[in-house]
Amino acid sequence: MNLSSRTIAILIALLVAGVLTTFAYVMPGLPVREAFLAGGVTVAACFLLVYLSFEALIFREINGIYTGLEHIKRKEFKKLSNKFLFRPEPLKRLRDEILDTAERRQQEFDELKRLQVLRREFLADVSHELKTPLFAAQGFVHTILDEEEDGEEGMDPATRRKFLQKAAASLDALDTLVQDLVTISQLEKGVVRMRRQRFDLVELIEEIFELLEQQARQRGATLALFPPHLSATGLPVVADRNRIRQVLVNLIDNALKYGREVGGQVVVSLATGREGVRIAVRDNGAGIAPEHQGRIFERFYRIEKSRSRAAGGSGLGLAISKHIVEAHKSSIRIHSVVGEGTTMEFKLPRPKHAPPVQVRPVGPRG
Ligand code: ADP
Repeated sequence: MNLSSRTIAILIALLVAGVLTTFAYVMPGLPVREAFLAGGVTVAACFLLVYLSFEALIFREINGIYTGLEHIKRKEFKKLSNKFLFRPEPLKRLRDEILDTAERRQQEFDELKRLQVLRREFLADVSHELKTPLFAAQGFVHTILDEEEDGEEGMDPATRRKFLQKAAASLDALDTLVQDLVTISQLEKGVVRMRRQRFDLVELIEEIFELLEQQARQRGATLALFPPHLSATGLPVVADRNRIRQVLVNLIDNALKYGREVGGQVVVSLATGREGVRIAVRDNGAGIAPEHQGRIFERFYRIEKSRSRAAGGSGLGLAISKHIVEAHKSSIRIHSVVGEGTTMEFKLPRPKHAPPVQVRPVGPRG
């Protein structure tokens, strides 16, 4: 039976009044009319007393819990009311406990749902990315084998070599992708520790310029350090040299790949300030539209899917770079104007007792 606070109050009031009226009636000397009047007054008083107590003490609290749970279900966490006129301690604690637990559970549940969606997307991306180079290599190798089986003489050596080179290039891309996947999963798990070592940033940049020189020449692009006099003085920083090398290779490589097709200029500028050294990699390419600027640091996000993939990147370069720079307590800032070019910038600390090298501003503009 479903009893509301009102029904319970009426039943208790009738019971108490019935007992009292019967008692008064059987007592000698009380006329019937007064006995009924006393009965009525007792019913009304008992009803009010019991009803209000129930309402205030229990039913309102439980109603409050239900309302709170409803808000939690609708994710309106801010609407949870903490107002109460009169509330006994155990009920208050019970209510707070239930609502807190429900709120936490709901938030955990939402986070798990979000992670599940991300995991599903990541798996789909990974399998898609793995399939592309794998199928290409498989195709070239099978073509060579089929030709050997079908024809008397098989494929001519020059074509076979070309196919083998293409298969090898696809397998190299696959290798890069797998290595990048391992790196990013280790960085995300937080198992990679950044070393704190003092090294010359200028020397590192020049080493990377040498590495990418041929690629730049093929594209007719130039690589430059600004200000140029730093080549003579050097600039010490404290960071994980290998990881920062990975970041700079990626940023400079991107500046070349996505820079201007003809007459590309890539400038790496250094500036010292109170917080350390500011490193900016600038190109004069097509630039990145504002709606893509926040997203290019996501795993596998590419603006021009076909062009970016043809350029040979794994789509993980900026995601990895972002993690590495953040592990050095900085962040990659992007300034980009469509049609003018892109600048990617981050900071590294200088050694405590480094000689004062004042280098300003960050780079040539325009
Ligand atoms: P990818 O392997 O595709 O180069 P990245 O993570 O390094 O992957 O870069 C993600 C995407 O960001 C690229 O595919 C490209 O569309 C865009 N991008 C990165 N750097 C630049 C740049 N300097 N200019 C224009 N677009 C860029």
